[in-house]
Amino acid sequence: MPARTGAAYLQGLRERNTEVWLGHERIRDVTAHPALHRGARSVAHLYDMQHDPTLCDEMTYISPTSGERVGLSFLTPRSLDDLQRRSRMMLHWARYSGGMLGRSPDYLNVNITAAAAAAAFYAQNDARFADNIRNYYTYIRENDLCLTHTLVNPQANRALTAAGHPSAEIAARIVHETDAGLVIRGARILATLGPLADEIAVFPSTVLRAAADTAPFAFAFAIPCDTPGLRFLCRESFDYGHAPFDHPLGARFEEMDAVVIFDDVLVPWERVFLKGDAALCNAAYAATNAVVHMMHQVVVKDIAKAEFLLGVACLVVDALGATEFPHVHEKLAECIINLELMKACLRAGEADAALDQWGVMCPHRPPLDVARNVFPKMYPRMVEILQLLSSSSLMMTPPQSAFDSPVHDDIEQYFVVAKLAARDRVKLFRLAWDIACSAFGGRQVLYERFFFGDPVRMASALYGIYDKEPLMERVRQFLAREDES
Ligand SMILES: Cc1cc2nc3c(=O)[nH]c(=O)nc-3n(C[C@H](O)[C@H](O)[C@H](O)COP(=O)(O)OP(=O)(O)OC[C@H]3O[C@@H](n4cnc5c(N)ncnc54)[C@H](O)[C@@H]3O)c2cc1C
Repeated sequence: MPARTGAAYLQGLRERNTEVWLGHERIRDVTAHPALHRGARSVAHLYDMQHDPTLCDEMTYISPTSGERVGLSFLTPRSLDDLQRRSRMMLHWARYSGGMLGRSPDYLNVNITAAAAAAAFYAQNDARFADNIRNYYTYIRENDLCLTHTLVNPQANRALTAAGHPSAEIAARIVHETDAGLVIRGARILATLGPLADEIAVFPSTVLRAAADTAPFAFAFAIPCDTPGLRFLCRESFDYGHAPFDHPLGARFEEMDAVVIFDDVLVPWERVFLKGDAALCNAAYAATNAVVHMMHQVVVKDIAKAEFLLGVACLVVDALGATEFPHVHEKLAECIINLELMKACLRAGEADAALDQWGVMCPHRPPLDVARNVFPKMYPRMVEILQLLSSSSLMMTPPQSAFDSPVHDDIEQYFVVAKLAARDRVKLFRLAWDIACSAFGGRQVLYERFFFGDPVRMASALYGIYDKEPLMERVRQFLAREDES
């Protein structure tokens, strides 16, 4: 099947019987429900971009098996050109939402693509698992399926987690093995896009102690989101049904986060990729380089998001007639620096890319790792800058209905600013508000802080992979110099 259209994606969701809960309500059709349908429509738009005649060549490539055009984020990069084609494609998707749809499908497409290319890694656990991951990759590529994922056990007792033990009664675990597959019981967090996805990848990330008692918690698999026994428990939706004028982001890009419950879910053997080996599970993302390919997607998203925030901040300053103040320049320069640093990280990651042991052209990890460590600090600061630059204008934001009310004349008269009429001013600052003040905006900040993992452990990972020895040796040599007294 060729790359899907938005209509095909939405039809696919309608045909699924995924168990999605929002408060007391079981949502039967996520494409029609007020809390989720506009987010679904935005994801559908991404799929439609694959069929836009002006973008099609950049968004898709020819499948090696079917000869059809399939989504380019499924391309296994073998050259620098492939990597750069992929980042151009991902930038088109990221710019559509100003980076606010963090879980555009490319995020997990590049994950599974890298995992399949490194199938031999999974064979170390069981030869069948290598075939399983290869077949799964081909299946999602040829059907252009949309994935969510869940890697983390719910916070229950951090002391246990820090010692490498999951909370045994809460964390998802293998409770039986049958001829048909594994039976999973327990919970995982936090499947972003879960209610709007076709499939869920349940991969390892929590660092497990390699011991017999952690074996039931060590696994990787992927199953359809409507597998019996699987439930998605949503947080409150940040799409309140208001017009895009009022909630320019929340009304479009609600991608939803859900806790995933496994109520004795049967995972067929052909969908199991790892089982019972904590050491392999702990190593999986790094050893297959899947994490680096995900960082590649993430830094592209960061660029689109930094561009968007800088663009909004510049419009705000321009609207208020504040373009000449040095402190304003300083704040905008900080946003420019953030954007240019993300672009430099992407470029450096691609420029120093090399073929890895799996024959995949893999971006150079350190610059991308720098990006994923620093953007969680940059993003909240850019939001703060937007607040500082906008100040009370973030509150001079009456809903659109005020323009059709008895106070209409007041608004037209008193809400003008240096460069904008009242309506355009309110429209702009409602966007700034949806970034800097709304629940949608607050969730974006939290997302950037945590979605790629705990910042402390991400920093430890960077410290761990970084080649420090040459630097230490240079200093040793400096200390040993006897040419100066
Ligand atoms: C908006 C949002 C969307 C998300 N979407 C997804 C998603 O789609 N899929 C997904 O899988 N996850 C998702 N996450 C979850 C994300 O991966 C986690 O929040 C992140 O990994 C941190 O885990 P935690 O929240 O359980 O915090 P913890 O891991 O509990 O970390 C909290 C503190 O405990 C310490 N700690 C805990 N365990 C250890 C340990 N073993 N070693 C060292 N220190 C430890 C940490 O240093 C940290 O200071 C999302 C999170 C957010 C906020």
